Amino acid sequence: MSQQETKQEFTGTITAVKARIRLLRSFDQISHAYLGYVLVLDGKLNGQPVEELRIAVGPKSHEKNQFRIGDQVSGMAVAVADEEKEWATHYRVSGLRLLARGPAEQVAPPNPDGGIAPPLPDYRARGHRRLDGKTYSANCQCCPFGLVMPTEITIDQWDPSKKRWRFETHCYGPRDCPMYRPGRPYQVPGRKPGMVWEDDDVEREKGGEDS
Ligand code: SF4
Repeated sequence: MSQQETKQEFTGTITAVKARIRLLRSFDQISHAYLGYVLVLDGKLNGQPVEELRIAVGPKSHEKNQFRIGDQVSGMAVAVADEEKEWATHYRVSGLRLLARGPAEQVAPPNPDGGIAPPLPDYRARGHRRLDGKTYSANCQCCPFGLVMPTEITIDQWDPSKKRWRFETHCYGPRDCPMYRPGRPYQVPGRKPGMVWEDDDVEREKGGEDS
């Protein structure tokens, strides 16, 4: 068994609950893979303190537990195989235990200070807008609507083996959130040198999901 397949023991306190959604781009085409949730933890891995653990869990686990900031959890998980393609640090969780619940005031709609992350179909229905990376770091780390999305870019639709990966920050929250800053549009490379598409969210700003 390789090091990456070895189960590691985690324990910690949830500091944020985020949807785990992958963004798939092919020039001006955009689609999504709705994978589950990521529990951001202040905790320990194999008994050693770790700055930030991000544990991927399935939709059913969140539906059942309604994870919230302040919950204490433990379990076993495997380090992700490719850190370029996952914002989570660990997945394939087993033996997840909810040791203590966070404060009751966290049982609330999503907001900049936390609340309960909604079901994945809600994210899909809401759609997202780009979110300035510095704004995410300063204001959106606790908000279930603020996501760091692993983004797969298919450079040439006629040769899907040509891919690039990067992380993009996006907001699924209300349009009048006072924290919101869009930042610069994301640029998507095309198959020929110099081909670039600028994603300025125009379609999504008209309302509704894009794909
Ligand atoms: S800008 Fe978006 S992600 Fe940030 S706090 Fe507001 S709703 Fe949440």
